[in-house]
Amino acid sequence: MKILANDGMDKNAVAYFEKQGIPVNLEHYDKETLKIEGPKYDIIIVRSKTKVTKDVIDALKQGRTKLIIRAGVGLDNIDLPYCAECGISVRNTPNSSKHSVAELVLGQMLNMARYINRADYSMKEGQWKKKELKGFEIRNKTLGIIGYGRIGKCLAEKAKALGMEVLCYDPFCHQDANAKKIELEDLFRRSDFVSVHTPSLSTPIITEETLKLMEGGYLINYSRGNAVDEEALIQALRDGVIAGAALDVFRNEPNVNQEFFTMDNVTLTPHIGAATEEAQQNIGQEIIEVIEDYTRTLQEVAG
Ligand code: NAD
Repeated sequence: MKILANDGMDKNAVAYFEKQGIPVNLEHYDKETLKIEGPKYDIIIVRSKTKVTKDVIDALKQGRTKLIIRAGVGLDNIDLPYCAECGISVRNTPNSSKHSVAELVLGQMLNMARYINRADYSMKEGQWKKKELKGFEIRNKTLGIIGYGRIGKCLAEKAKALGMEVLCYDPFCHQDANAKKIELEDLFRRSDFVSVHTPSLSTPIITEETLKLMEGGYLINYSRGNAVDEEALIQALRDGVIAGAALDVFRNEPNVNQEFFTMDNVTLTPHIGAATEEAQQNIGQEIIEVIEDYTRTLQEVAG
């Protein structure tokens, strides 16, 4: 068995496979090279950088590739229906990064409430904006979570521990001890912070209309860029319809709409929700489990 980790992999997982006599190639191939080199590997591991499109899958199905693993959660960079049609299995590592994403969201709520980044850069520009940087406590404020899955639930637990009231909206999940389930429109109206944690969506959930319902609130999007109508958000931030936003994901990464760079009331991070030592180690461990599970299933089918 041969593995290609086209967007890299945690060193402990690499060492584990090499100890088992399974070579791991850590080279990154661009799309055209991947079409030539990829089919030589049984398993291909990608993060979000590699786009596994129809033409790539057409090349892979001619060779040895039988499994693609997305090291992370979102599978939107892989053409899943076409992989299924071509007999290539796809798996992800959904359990590894929830604490890292949830902690960063909490960090952004505190940052927006207390202007931490604005205070920092204005001081470095020689200013002393003590009066303008009066913030508020997040304790007793309301957090509305859209998409109450792994990350949403993890965030709710942490926010509740900090004394926040937590609401959630998710058509497929129940409320629990940490969050009260309500209708989407009510969530927008009642929340001081709205944080989106849905899978990739075909139509944005944050639009001109929903931003108006959030009047004076803060938006956080650490899910996928297509959850947000970016033009509507820019307008809402400009007109002061909402107080601020924190974004980690964008419609066209890494080419972020330049308008965001001109605004004080938006805080940007370059898709680093899962960029921690711990999340990457957990992802490596989950990849090992996925591959062991996959090979066990193959042996059972064969034997
Ligand atoms: P999950 O599948 O565990 O949870 C998603 C939840 O959204 C599910 O409970 C589902 O029922 C719900 N949902 C689906 N459609 C919905 C809708 N229209 N409205 C409301 N809820 C809806 O996923 P997760 O692991 O919690 O990940 C959530 C998101 O975070 C994904 O988009 C993932 O790609 C993204 N993510 C981003 C980073 C990052 O670096 N920023 C890291 C990890 C995951």
